[in-house]
Amino acid sequence: MKKILFLDRDGTLIVEPPGDWQIDRFEKLEFLPKVIQNLADILQKTDYELVMITNQDGLGTESYPEDSFWGPHHLMMKILQTEGIKFKEVLIDITYQKDEADTRKPFTGLLRHYMDGSVDMANSYVVGDRLTDMQLAINLGCQGIMIGKSEDATDDGMCELDKMPAAIALDANNWDEIRDFLLTQS
Ligand SMILES: [Mg+2]
Repeated sequence: MKKILFLDRDGTLIVEPPGDWQIDRFEKLEFLPKVIQNLADILQKTDYELVMITNQDGLGTESYPEDSFWGPHHLMMKILQTEGIKFKEVLIDITYQKDEADTRKPFTGLLRHYMDGSVDMANSYVVGDRLTDMQLAINLGCQGIMIGKSEDATDDGMCELDKMPAAIALDANNWDEIRDFLLTQS
């Protein structure tokens, strides 16, 4: 059965700019240290497939026009691709938390087609920098890899905090640690 790494985008693959949290200009596009070489290594040495799942609050509205989003996003994808890092799917939710949409992480509305028994969820991971990413792991029945310190993370009031210790398989400081961990799991 296939195993998947469900990867968050902002704060996980690329730096999330404090302030407006939007990567809406090329100057704001910056990868996390060593993410590219480590992801390439993971793909070469394991059989995980990659799915990107990201919340982009209000994308397409006046405060976050699509035109400003796609340029940096496509450049990011192209850079990853030149190193052999390809995604099976890129899923973007554009709602706000107040909308309470089931497509917005930590909910699984955009990922239903992976929840039909065709994916080895017990050995799949969500990699993210927020507790809502870890809650997504709980909701999918897979495990979480947190980048950054989970004790410092905010939970947006949408997380089952008592379940976090069991759900977070690795509290990683950087992508070297994520790579090392995943190579021992497969
Ligand atoms: Mg994030």
